[in-house]
This record gives sequence, structure tokens and C-alpha cells, in this order.
Amino acid sequence: MRRVIAVEKIVEQIINARKIAIAGHIRPDGDCIGSCTALYQYLKRNQNRFGFEKVDMYLEPFSNEFRILNATDEASHNCQVDEIYDLFISLDCASVDRLGNAIKYFNSARKTLNIDHHISNTNFADVNHVVADASSTSEVVFTLLEEEEITKEIASSLYVGIIHDTGVFKHSNTTEKTMNIAGKLISKGIDSSRLINDTFYAKTYIQNQVLGRCLMESDLILDGKIIVSSINRKTMELYQAATTDLEGIVDQLRVTKGVEVAIFMYETNENEFKISMRSNGKVNVSKIAIHFGGGGHVQAAGCTMNGLPTDILNNLTPHIEAQLNGNVKP
Ligand code: 5GP
Ligand code: MN
Repeated sequence: MRRVIAVEKIVEQIINARKIAIAGHIRPDGDCIGSCTALYQYLKRNQNRFGFEKVDMYLEPFSNEFRILNATDEASHNCQVDEIYDLFISLDCASVDRLGNAIKYFNSARKTLNIDHHISNTNFADVNHVVADASSTSEVVFTLLEEEEITKEIASSLYVGIIHDTGVFKHSNTTEKTMNIAGKLISKGIDSSRLINDTFYAKTYIQNQVLGRCLMESDLILDGKIIVSSINRKTMELYQAATTDLEGIVDQLRVTKGVEVAIFMYETNENEFKISMRSNGKVNVSKIAIHFGGGGHVQAAGCTMNGLPTDILNNLTPHIEAQLNGNVKP
């Protein structure tokens, strides 16, 4: 039922638009890139049917490994062109500020559409299609497309989105539906192992060096219930590491035995850190991230905080401790 309503509403927006923009969130991840390139390719394929004039895709710079996906070279990395869109489609964005520079097109668009799966989504658009129990935005996009219109290339994009947000089907957001969809995508002839290896597991030498360093410098606190590691800009420069080289570090911290919450922070500006949190189930890290102005999912969330890592940790720890002790509901 929900699918029919969502599809009708969304198609209505598309057929009423001449110029369409698609955008994902700042610091694009696999799901963001996968869902954007999938929907972009689908719209391009169906341009005559829907009758729109053009579709543009905005994505901030992303890691090279995603270049394996079709249409990634068609993404605009900056928002300098002045354009007013009839329809702006936001994908994988929990809140409007996460759109980054593309917010200018969102603000001037005649109609806005928000397709997402974050529990913290603020329903910021004219039409909101937020499915919080979906593993990924790519899973949501799959349910919106006619299966016969999903080419091998579109399937590859959606598959990469799903494997990144599920940690290759290991996170608790992986449902029977997720696996069924993945099966259908594989039946489109995608190279599943190549997509998994090349976009998820493959690491550059620099990425491995930084990962190793962050693991070595990690600390266990709260009787081993929290593991934390941080990296400042100077150290990143030493390794010539970009922020996109830091992906996956928090996930490696999380698998440490006995740990309930993993925290990874990297310096974005002087005394300003991007925080990534992962939970093994007992703690709702989205709630904590929202408290500090961020958002995300129950077991994977983030925010930006000011101060030294020790100060930031001192601010975060009581919230985690309160949930673990049952003083605050997760
Ligand atoms: P990551 O730790 O991988 O950057 O993000 C984990 C999850 O939390 C992702 O779903 C991401 O969209 C969300 N997230 C991370 N940082 C922020 C933030 O600053 N604000 C919001 N609203 N969500 C965030
Ligand atoms: Mn996502």
C-alpha cells in the first residue's frame, strides 16, 4: 500500500517538473552515491516518458573507488551554476543542513522531495518519503522503481548503497527484505564480489596506515564499554590522508570485544571535530548525536563538536553511561 502511494506521489512530482535536481548529503558515502546515481540513471532512461527537460546530480567530492559506478562522472561537485529547479530530490539526507552547498537549489526549487531512511529525518521537504526501517536509501529507491527498468548499471549503484549501509549485510538493519532486494539486484547480472571488494574492502596504503595508527592510539574507557580514538589535522597531514581515507575506522573500533559504543573523531577545523559513533545495540547513538546537533541511526550516528577530544569525550560519556545504566531510555 505504502509503495503505491509513495510511487504515485513521487511520479506526480516528476511529471510536473521540467528541470530536476538530485542531491545527496555532505561527505557522500556509498549509500548516498549509490542512491543518487541509481535514481539519476533511472530518470535519464525514462526522460521521454516523464517528459522533463533535464536532470542534474549534485554530489560533493567522493572517494575514487566509487568511480566504478556508472554516472558518477556526471555528478557536479560544486553548486556555482545559478539554476532554479522545478523539482529538487534529496536522497539519504536526514536534515536540510546536510545538503551542503546544494541547499541553494533546495531553497529556490518549486517543489522538494525527500527520500530517506534516517530515523532522525526532519521531514524537511514538501513531499517526504522516509522509511526508517529500510537498511538504506538505496533500498527505498529500489522499492520505488519498476523492476524491469532496473538495468545492470542501476542495480550496481543500488547494490553498492545497500552493502555500504549494512556493512556488507552484517549490521542489524539487514532484513529479509534487504536480502531479497540484494538477490534481485544480483539477478540483473551485477559483479557482486567486485563491487564489494573494490568499494568496501579495498584500502590504499595510506588508509591502512591511518587505520593502524588510530587503532594503536585507541583507548578503552568505562570498563571497556566505550572505545575511542581521534586524529588531528596535523597527523592527517603527516600521512597525507584525506577525510575520505578515514571511513571504516569507527567500524573496526566497534568490533572490539566487550565494547558497547565506538567513538571516532577527526579534526575538521581548529578544535572542531567530526564525531562518528557506532553502537552494538544497547545504546541509541542517534539520540546522543541529535542532542549534540547531529543525527543518524540507532546504531550509527554522527555530529560535529567543538573542543579538544578529551573535552568532547567528557561531554559524550555521561550520555552513554546514562543509557547503559538504564537511567535514560535508549
Ligand atoms: P558516519 O559516522 O558514517 O559519518 O555517519 C553515520 C550515520 O550518521 C550516517 O547515516 C550519517 O548520515 C549520520 N550522520 C553523521 N554525521 C551527521 C551529522 O552531523 N548530522 C546528521 N544529521 N547526521 C549525521
Ligand atoms: Mn544511508
